[in-house]
Amino acid sequence: MQLDTLWQFMQVDMEADGFETKMRQSPNRQKLIKARDFLKDQQANMKKLESDVAVMQDRLEAVADEADRLEKVLANLTAEIEANPPQNVEEAQKQAESVQKLLDTLTRYEQELAKMRKDADVKDRQQKEIRVRAAKTKQEFDQLKVVYDKEFKADTAKLQKMRERTEQESKKLEPKLYERYKNIKQHCTPPMAKLINGQCSGCFMSLPSATLLEIRTGDRIVECDNCGRILYDAGE
Ligand SMILES: [Zn+2]
Repeated sequence: MQLDTLWQFMQVDMEADGFETKMRQSPNRQKLIKARDFLKDQQANMKKLESDVAVMQDRLEAVADEADRLEKVLANLTAEIEANPPQNVEEAQKQAESVQKLLDTLTRYEQELAKMRKDADVKDRQQKEIRVRAAKTKQEFDQLKVVYDKEFKADTAKLQKMRERTEQESKKLEPKLYERYKNIKQHCTPPMAKLINGQCSGCFMSLPSATLLEIRTGDRIVECDNCGRILYDAGE
């Protein structure tokens, strides 16, 4: 009967599909994907750090320039005071306040510069760490890639043989039935289910007695109302 042939065919087809799934889930492949993602993340981290450092560098230069400018202002003011000493207490106090204000601002700038240089050092260390880690991962990736490429080549050849066998076996099927099988497989796999105790073994729905009768007597091919699989009565 044609459903027996289709059932036999499905075993071969499912074996090939299963092997393809196993290939995709290969531990080496998973490790490679993980390493590749890790490297991508590190590249992104690196980019972020580089742009942070660039911004910091700009700010650092701006503050350093401003500090230089203030130092000159302070030197000029000091020279001016030396050339024209204050004439009275108020004037002396006013000048002292101006000098103090400049000194306070300079101190603030120096503190800020020290903090930024410290931050820059931290980011520099982070960059180095990332580089070391990424280089290590890249090395592991390259080594594993060699192993995996071999594995993939062998598995691909094996899968191709399995697919060829499927192709051969499919020639035993009625073209229309094969089309139907393929259509069902697109949304439901395996596309056939055994009939066990009046139930579809694909989705475990109990089938109405009219459907059961149709399967047992007629030559009509019946699909499960619930999951759409072709129902196969193996006579068990
Ligand atoms: Zn079903």
